[in-house]
Amino acid sequence: MDHSSQLVALNATIQPSRGMLFGVDAQALAACMVAVGEPAWRGRQLAEALYRQRVTELDAITTLPKALRQKLVAEGWQVGRPRIAQVFQSVDGTERYLIECSGGDGLTVETVWMPEGDDGEAGDGSDAVSKQTRGAPGPSHLGTWDSKESNLESDPEEVSGEGKTGQRVTLCVSSQVGCAVNCRFCLTAKLGLQRNLTAGEIAGQVVAVFDRHAVEVGRDRVNLVFMGMGEPFLNYDNFMGAVRLLVREVGLSPQRMTVSTSGIVPGIERFAHEPAEFRPKLAISLNAPNDQIRTEIMPINRKWPIQSVMAAVRKVKLRPRERMTFEYVLLGGVTDRPKDAAEVARLIRRTGLPAKVNLIAWNPGPGINYSTPQPEAVEAFRKTLIDAGIPTYLRKPRGRDIYAACGQLKRTVEE
Ligand code: SF4
Repeated sequence: MDHSSQLVALNATIQPSRGMLFGVDAQALAACMVAVGEPAWRGRQLAEALYRQRVTELDAITTLPKALRQKLVAEGWQVGRPRIAQVFQSVDGTERYLIECSGGDGLTVETVWMPEGDDGEAGDGSDAVSKQTRGAPGPSHLGTWDSKESNLESDPEEVSGEGKTGQRVTLCVSSQVGCAVNCRFCLTAKLGLQRNLTAGEIAGQVVAVFDRHAVEVGRDRVNLVFMGMGEPFLNYDNFMGAVRLLVREVGLSPQRMTVSTSGIVPGIERFAHEPAEFRPKLAISLNAPNDQIRTEIMPINRKWPIQSVMAAVRKVKLRPRERMTFEYVLLGGVTDRPKDAAEVARLIRRTGLPAKVNLIAWNPGPGINYSTPQPEAVEAFRKTLIDAGIPTYLRKPRGRDIYAACGQLKRTVEE
């Protein structure tokens, strides 16, 4: 099914449902308080309760007088935070959640918790001079995709998040219910776009999962990747609204966040103007060496071909030591050939940007006719990029058994 006709009206933002406090920032909460005849500083108390103490019921906000809580409830206000409706646990520790949106329409989105990361983008802003960069041999051990294999090499830039157990933690967050971009290799694309998420529904996924794992912001280091269901830059205002909430109210660093786009040029150009204090790192979902192959597997490329994406990407002012990430899904016999690797290396070098590549061996999904690449092809591809001086990492497949791996999120309530 072609969902590309859905692309037209995607930038329209959806207002938070009336009466939902979660998703409203401290300043707007202060205005809400003034509107009900309370001092503005009550808004700060509310923000503290919603985003730091993570309360889910108005009545639990004990910093507010009981009479005020009752008044707010009587006027139709509620916390309205998304809640985890179902949990799927993988043998590798990954958890995939169906999270019920707060809009009251019964829709769910998917969020994935990866306790050891996936060796892909994790949002850490630290330096990355890897063994691979220096030309040392990569892992020779690609004969298995078992995610418990520990000797796949990690991107040192991304050995970063430490949860309660001292493990790396990466949380993959959705930005839309379904997706209209229709990448041919992606299971989410099969849903089409159902609707945009609000800023509260995007940030709410993070806070709901933090609650489940008792994450302490400031002590536990969690990386966020906006790489779940949907194309964040086709829901730009709500996506950036969520980022501002997560930075300002929840207390997370934008340097521990990465947003991935399929190459929505107007979105990248807007993103380039975001102030560094609220700008996550950027990953471009490249996936092909040239326009011909890219258009076949990502029809969006017809609208914004590779060179227009690269021109937009060059406008993003990278922080010191930050690299532009290119995500590359290896499809057996389609995008994983030696000539593809050589072309990708030339393409990336021509950008002149400090860049790195995350390779993802395609995860199989029902109804999608691509092949998983051979381990030898993956290794050869990686070596070509490394030899060209491009730091290149292989993302571990996480949670394949629960359809939590990249491109596998399909809001599978039916499972
Ligand atoms: S890969 Fe991303 S942008 Fe492409 S269809 Fe899937 S969710 Fe949408």
